[in-house]
Amino acid sequence: MAPHADDETIAAYTLLSRLRRRGVLTRVIVVSDGAASHPSSPMWPRDRLVRERRRETRRAMGRIGVHAAAIRFLDLPDSRLFDHADAVRRHIGRAARALPAPVLALTPSPSDAHPDHRVVAAAARRQAGIAWWTYPVWPAGQRLHGARSLPLSAQERLAKRQAIRSYRTQCGRITDDPSGFAMSPRQIAAFSRPQEVFAPRVGR
Ligand SMILES: [Zn+2]
Repeated sequence: MAPHADDETIAAYTLLSRLRRRGVLTRVIVVSDGAASHPSSPMWPRDRLVRERRRETRRAMGRIGVHAAAIRFLDLPDSRLFDHADAVRRHIGRAARALPAPVLALTPSPSDAHPDHRVVAAAARRQAGIAWWTYPVWPAGQRLHGARSLPLSAQERLAKRQAIRSYRTQCGRITDDPSGFAMSPRQIAAFSRPQEVFAPRVGR
């Protein structure tokens, strides 16, 4: 479950890649439309930006065998998921139940600094056959209680960094919006650290 197009790659690119290689059925749900990263770019009006962010996700996931048909875009308004928490919960619950058990469902950590991430985190519900685990994004490298690490090989780490950088709309490609978002080199480095981290969701 990715609040924004790129969170699935930042959080779980290597895990998804290994699961796909083992033939595990995987689904990616991108919850928001991603339009808030550059709200005032003349060159990148909303529709163009949303389309490109989708393309970036499909391309990055395609490289590890998660095909377009396995990715769903809910297109809820970026930065305003709080106003759509019920819809987020409904969609995510339905998507998790639609998969054959056992399901490993990954959401952001409930203590993530980004409000959209916390809305997606709150959509987790205790349910037979579904194990909810969380991942850290903001801030990169935050510690989660009970966390387990998936160490990356040098090659996996390189592939992941390239995948993150392939989200070019989020890495500085758009330069005509002073309020626009761009991952800093330091953030990209932190997101491609030598391990992916996941923690079981407690409570609920
Ligand atoms: Zn995000």
